[in-house]
Amino acid sequence: MASYREYYRRSVEQPEAFWAEKAALIDWHRPFDQVLDSSRKPFSAWFRGGLTNLCHNAVDRHLAQRAQQPALVWESTEVERSRSYTYAELHREVQRMAAILQRHGVGQGDRVLLYMPMIPEAVFGMLACARIGAIHSVVFGGFAAVSLATRIDDAAPKLILSSDAGSRAGRVVPYKPLLDEAIGRASHKPRAVLMVDRGLHPFDPVAGRDLDYAAECAAVGQPQVPCTWVDATHPSYILYTSGTTGRPKGVQRDTGGYAVALSTSMQDIYCCRPGATYFCGSDIGWVVGHSYIVYGPLIHGMTTVLYEGTPVRPDAGILWRLAERHRAQVMFTSPTAIRVLKKFDPALMRSCDLSSLERLFLAGEPLDEPTAEWISSTLGKPVVDNYWQTETGWPILSIAGGVEALPPKPGSPGVAMPGYKVSILDEASGQPLPAGKKGVLAIDWPLPPGCMQTVWGDDQRFVDTYWSNFPSRQVYSTFDWGVADEQGYVTILGRTDDVINVAGHRLGTREIEESISSHAAVAEVAVVGAADALKGQQAMAFVVPRDASRVADAAGREALSGEIMQTVQTQLGAVARPARVLFVGMLPKTRSGKLLRRSIQALCEQRPTGDLTTLEDPAALEQIRAALAEQP
Ligand code: ATP
Ligand code: MG
Repeated sequence: MASYREYYRRSVEQPEAFWAEKAALIDWHRPFDQVLDSSRKPFSAWFRGGLTNLCHNAVDRHLAQRAQQPALVWESTEVERSRSYTYAELHREVQRMAAILQRHGVGQGDRVLLYMPMIPEAVFGMLACARIGAIHSVVFGGFAAVSLATRIDDAAPKLILSSDAGSRAGRVVPYKPLLDEAIGRASHKPRAVLMVDRGLHPFDPVAGRDLDYAAECAAVGQPQVPCTWVDATHPSYILYTSGTTGRPKGVQRDTGGYAVALSTSMQDIYCCRPGATYFCGSDIGWVVGHSYIVYGPLIHGMTTVLYEGTPVRPDAGILWRLAERHRAQVMFTSPTAIRVLKKFDPALMRSCDLSSLERLFLAGEPLDEPTAEWISSTLGKPVVDNYWQTETGWPILSIAGGVEALPPKPGSPGVAMPGYKVSILDEASGQPLPAGKKGVLAIDWPLPPGCMQTVWGDDQRFVDTYWSNFPSRQVYSTFDWGVADEQGYVTILGRTDDVINVAGHRLGTREIEESISSHAAVAEVAVVGAADALKGQQAMAFVVPRDASRVADAAGREALSGEIMQTVQTQLGAVARPARVLFVGMLPKTRSGKLLRRSIQALCEQRPTGDLTTLEDPAALEQIRAALAEQP
């Protein structure tokens, strides 16, 4: 087996040779003339001159070998249904959807916004756009009307693909009223709205605008719609970031570079075999869903599982049963999901035959050590953390087990993945820091293939936001705070805006959270820095106890808060000791499961909470408010 160190070195020292080789993993209609166009730094254009198509690579090219292999398997515990499509069937469905889009004037470069539940038609919609060179923008189904309206105005779609309703934990969530309100609010008006009627919630179609998917399918019959060959640099989609830190950014992704990067990651990182099954429990509204429910597994000729449901319904064994049923080779979910499962009996997992499963991948937020240990020992399989962003489209840090299975290190997602020139920079000077020193995680130009091309419609924002953070050098900032060790393993310490400055000491919220999580009574914790007249900032900890009865009265709260403060003091020193430890039943999170620290911080500082449209459950913020008012 090749040494990862050598492999990686070549990827960053000879990026053109490295990626030209990887480009052979996908089909090209016309080969590219130039591997990397560097004429417009910090922009980078990969595979200029090449013509290809994402849908061809994800569907058509497998027809010769895999026509009868399941390509897409849909499982819904929400409506108790499942469906499976072979590559041949998927090909037919996608062509039908593509014909409908074309019939209503959608062509190359036009935007199509998807506001969809996790149903097969959502995947058909994405692939159909790719097929005809239209640019999709998937907005998480169930997002509030205001956030949807902003995205409609930004992406200016010609057509919106939507559905009557989604379902969440057994409750029907009507989408149509939200969509109608959003279109009403937006200044841009789509020409048409294509409605997939699931029969979950009745709605009144808007005459002259709304189309019925079933009727449209009947109208187009069984059409043949050839793939439109597009430039490798043609945008495939726009996807908005989660909005954890502020106004979401419309990430624009290319076509050729993305396909090449995903293929590379399927081999190097996810160690996948064509023909095997990939089960990613994310949502198509997030980047993980784009890359590892839809495009990555299909480009690699795998069977992908699309799951509509939660990890705990009908019980906490459902993910494992689905993995068993479909003989999944790989599973991918978030640390949040695992933390939820940890509260339940692992017998539900152990009763499943998971012999097909080789690895579990986790991404989206820091994987704390107690959770990592619990899941790897309970599952008895390698658990691989991977760190990346909507912006990058595929992992920045992980373990490339397909190249060399470097040993994982607790607390670290791993080392830099191929093509990413990762460094840790001093926040003020921008100078690279040695191992052991904390700084901003940055990536030198060029970002490898698959990463964002620009901010949709706003090149200047791309340069200003991502490439202009250090006076001395033009590098891409991840806005994450990290530390590398001698072997290049990086530990993420939190977001740069989450760094707490206590009397001149810089502390990552993540470090304090890790320390607090190591206390056996703690289920979950969020630490924020709140302005303090004396010390600049002070750390405030909000803890969800494993057993609520321990904090039912003031004496119990005081005792546990004292123990937690002592734990931090012993592990990190007195400066890191939180000024207050408050107890709550849940923490405010985005719908993608990320902690909304900025709103907790705002409450601590008695400021307005800002944009809350991505907040999962408003009751969680109320608990923070109440804790601040009622607990000492
Ligand atoms: P916004 O940029 O709009 O504030 P966001 O950063 O939450 O939203 P995403 O692109 O979905 O949007 O999330 C990427 C971020 O998630 C990373 O920058 C990092 O902070 C965090 N993250 C992702 N994976 C990991 C991981 N494995 N370990 C630690 N942090 C992670
Ligand atoms: Mg971000």
